Amino acid sequence: MKSLPDFDMVLFGGTGDLAMRKLLPALYQQVKTGRVNPASRILAAARREMSKAEFLALAEATCRPFLGEAYDAETWNAFAARVDYFPMDVRKPESYGPLAAALGVHPERIRVFYYSTAPEFFATMSANLGAAGLISTRSRVVVEKPLGHDLDSSRTINDAIGEHFAERQIFRIDHYLGKEPVQNLLALRFGNVLFEPLWRREWVQDVQITVAEQLGMEGRGDFYDRTGALRDMLQNHLLQLLCIVAMEPPTGSDPDAVRDEKLKVLRSLKPFTAADVATKTVRGQYQAGAAAGMPVAAYVEESGVDADSRTETFVAVKAEIDTWRWAGVPFFLRTGKRMPDKLAEIVINFRPVPHPIFGESAHGGRANRLIIRMQPDESMRLYLVAKQPGEAMALQPVNLNLDFAESFRDRRLEAYERLLMDAIRGKLTLFVRRDEQEAAWRWVEPILDQWEASEDRPRNYTAGSWGPAASSALLSRDGLAWNEEY
Ligand code: NAD
Repeated sequence: MKSLPDFDMVLFGGTGDLAMRKLLPALYQQVKTGRVNPASRILAAARREMSKAEFLALAEATCRPFLGEAYDAETWNAFAARVDYFPMDVRKPESYGPLAAALGVHPERIRVFYYSTAPEFFATMSANLGAAGLISTRSRVVVEKPLGHDLDSSRTINDAIGEHFAERQIFRIDHYLGKEPVQNLLALRFGNVLFEPLWRREWVQDVQITVAEQLGMEGRGDFYDRTGALRDMLQNHLLQLLCIVAMEPPTGSDPDAVRDEKLKVLRSLKPFTAADVATKTVRGQYQAGAAAGMPVAAYVEESGVDADSRTETFVAVKAEIDTWRWAGVPFFLRTGKRMPDKLAEIVINFRPVPHPIFGESAHGGRANRLIIRMQPDESMRLYLVAKQPGEAMALQPVNLNLDFAESFRDRRLEAYERLLMDAIRGKLTLFVRRDEQEAAWRWVEPILDQWEASEDRPRNYTAGSWGPAASSALLSRDGLAWNEEY
């Protein structure tokens, strides 16, 4: 177990939902592992006026349910001993004094500024930190999504942060990249010889990436209505997952080797014409229906949402990659709210055998399939066809659990834990580089523009279903169907 170098982490937005649900629990878990030296500090900053003791009481009460069995009073006290709280208005330069004084005690230290506030503050915060002389060469900034609304606004915000931090100091977080099964997919692809020869158009029929949520707006209707599923999920998380599946083997695991390969994938995505948007994308909006057996309201009835909103709460696209490896292999991406289950998975469908010697009926039309599951469980399974025991030559699918959860009994790291540690250590591999982000915006913009220009509304789907019927049609036109084995 390697301990972390001494660090000061400034958590802007320290009282917010993300800090309480993910960031503070991730830091607690790291304290519990013994990796965080007693000298390291977590400096939470937020708007609310309160003392350090009040903040810690609030944090303990709020974080505890998220820690579950990992909570114990002794570790909490050790964690709390590293925490301080700074009430401030990040927009006002004069309110940085106490934070500056605290940071000034250890000028040589690694500083991680975590921007867990609304992105509209990111430019001002960077300018104020710069003006207060708080950004050293050993400083890093971690920025949450959404970084912009389109290509232009993402450039503006990146320029503003870039005036004060060099690109190597900017950690754009996409927590899907920190998930264990995604890491394991990299290990599977680049740590074995078995998959590489198969990982191409000759053997892969199609790839499906699904990130489905059961929740609706949960009070975030106002934000969501200005954003929609394409900007909120597909432009970042789903495209990053696509990159991990599709990228060429990098020359090493250093950050730019990996990020260069992801960028090449993004740049090879076939651009959408106006006609493509009509045939290769589907947008949907949920109507009243059910979630977890309870009746739920339509999207337009959620608080903060316009009564005649045309915002999509579901999107499915057929993406194509113009490279020798992937030409002709469709990558189907879909994400939505108010789906039947919380499900995040990548499905690689291999081609059927060229000639079924046991007969079509014995084979049941089954082909090999690799499923990397991030939600609700974390797993990686390879489906093979095997013979059913008995006299007849009847075949059935069986799956190999490639996760070896039984072999590795260590506690699994939460994505945020891994990413926070990487930010402290200065490891950029799992963070998104500016050019990647801009390439992703460039690819989705024609979809946004075409939707905006069109008179059409998103297609309706019932809350608790897998989206509009057109989403199934998107695949059935190629003789395919969404994976339903979960
Ligand atoms: P939140 O509204 O719950 O919390 C916002 C925090 O910012 C609070 O601590 C508040 O005190 C602080 N704040 C607001 N105005 C301030 C000011 N003027 N000066 C100082 N502090 C101020 O937000 P959240 O849900 O925690 O999200 C934080 C960021 O993370 C946002 O950029 C959001 O888009 C992003 N994000 C959140 C989630 C999530 O699950 N909550 C997921 C992905 C990304």
